[in-house]
Formats: sequence, structure tokens, C-alpha cells
Amino acid sequence: MKYLLSSLILLIVSFFSCSPKQEKVEKVEMEIDFPMGKLIDLTYEFSEETVYWVTSKEFELEEVAKGQTEKGYFYSAYNFSGAEHGGTHIDAPIHFAENGQSVDEIPLENLMGKAIKIDVSEKASQNPDYQVSQFDLEFWEAEHDQIPDGSIILLQTGFGKKYPDKMEYLGTDQRGPEAVKDLHFPGLAPDAAKWLVEERNIHAIGIDTPSIDYGQSQNFGTHVALMTANIPAFENVANLEKLPAKDFHIIALPMKIKGGSGGPLRIVAIVE
Ligand SMILES: [Zn+2]
Repeated sequence: MKYLLSSLILLIVSFFSCSPKQEKVEKVEMEIDFPMGKLIDLTYEFSEETVYWVTSKEFELEEVAKGQTEKGYFYSAYNFSGAEHGGTHIDAPIHFAENGQSVDEIPLENLMGKAIKIDVSEKASQNPDYQVSQFDLEFWEAEHDQIPDGSIILLQTGFGKKYPDKMEYLGTDQRGPEAVKDLHFPGLAPDAAKWLVEERNIHAIGIDTPSIDYGQSQNFGTHVALMTANIPAFENVANLEKLPAKDFHIIALPMKIKGGSGGPLRIVAIVE
């Protein structure tokens, strides 16, 4: 395929044996197919506006230093804090599956690769509690082809356009446990998630809302179905309207928190 650039990477591993003079050089060759195309950032910046789950600690940036030093150079540094699950982030399987992978354990194969987009924004524009159905998935397949093995699926509900207006995007601008009942945004239906797990072979799934389960979910059946099968989810994904239905790749690399249930995610599309 012409969009693939076959690049040959030559790794030269050099090390010394007992005597420093006896330098031994080992050459390892790896062939890497790297997709070429237009880069599209699917990540929201982290700031005071970043949307977090109503019960989660929000993002904070604390200035440590900013300005000219006495020694004549400029210096800036900050401390940051916030919940794993906020803004553009990943849910690691262990978020909803006791024996699932933690964020540091997710194989890179699940985070990088070919992707498709399924657009349900017309239906979701009329119903903030819309759940993407098996019918929607099969409708995409009827138009295109069977969801390719190893795909990352992105679900476009159109809610990205409302970000970061909490009233519009979450259904409430209140915070705390009392606000959970007022959450209204689309998600993937648990039955459709089970169908993907059982009938298709996907590497990850993402959505342009705060959660892969819809806002009114009580038992998070979609999270459970996906994460029990070690399929991670990307949430609050930006700019999905800029993507085609297929023929693009995703690179989605989260902060590698040891044992973490998720974390901030930098997600990028490469469109042919
Ligand atoms: Zn999450």
C-alpha cells in the first residue's frame, strides 16, 4: 500500500566486553510500517475548563516558577494534579475488571493501529440519552465492510461540539454524588459492546463523550463487557468530525501510571 512507508531502522547496539578496547558491535534490523498522512489531534488540552466526572478531582496546575532567574536565563515549572479519569483519557481494563490490565500493562498493539469511525450524531442530536446499537454497527458494515480485525473504533455522537460547556456536554454543571443522576450524554449500548467482544475483534474503542456508557447508566454494563475482554476505552475524544469513516490510523498513548486504572491520553489520527 502506497501510504505505508517502509522504513528500515538500524539499531546499533554497542557494548564493551572485558577489555575496553574490544568493542563489539551488534546490528539489529527491524522493518516498521509507519502510516503516512495528515495528522489530526484528537486531544483536549488540560486546563481549568477540562471536564471531569462530577465526583472526581479536577485538573490543577500550580506554578512553581515562571520568569527570569538571577542567573540570566528564563525558567518555568509547574506541579499538576487531577483524577485519572478526566479530559481526554483512557480507561484501562482494570477500571471495571478485577483481573484486567492496568494502564501500564496495556499492550502497545491496543493503542496504535488502523481505525474506523461510526457517526451516530444525527440520532444523538435528538436524544442526549442515545445508546449506539448493534444496528448502528451493522449499518456501518453494510455501507463499508466488516469491521476489520484489530480495529480501533471511534464513535462520533456529535457531543464533542458541546465541550467544555458542562451543562450541554454532561447535562449538569453541578458536582458531587448528587449530580450523577443528572448526567445526560450518549454512550455505547451494553448489548452492542457484547456483540463487538463476541463477534468482532477490536483493539480499543473511543467516544466523544465523558464515558463509554451513556450518562444515565446505573451498572456500567458496557465498561464491564469491554474491560473484561481487556479492551480499553478512550473518552472525551476531540475532533471526531474531522475524521473519515475509515482509512486512518490512531496513535493513543496514555501516561504510564504503574497499576493505574486510566490516565491522561494523547491521541492522534493519521488520515491517508
Ligand atoms: Zn474513564
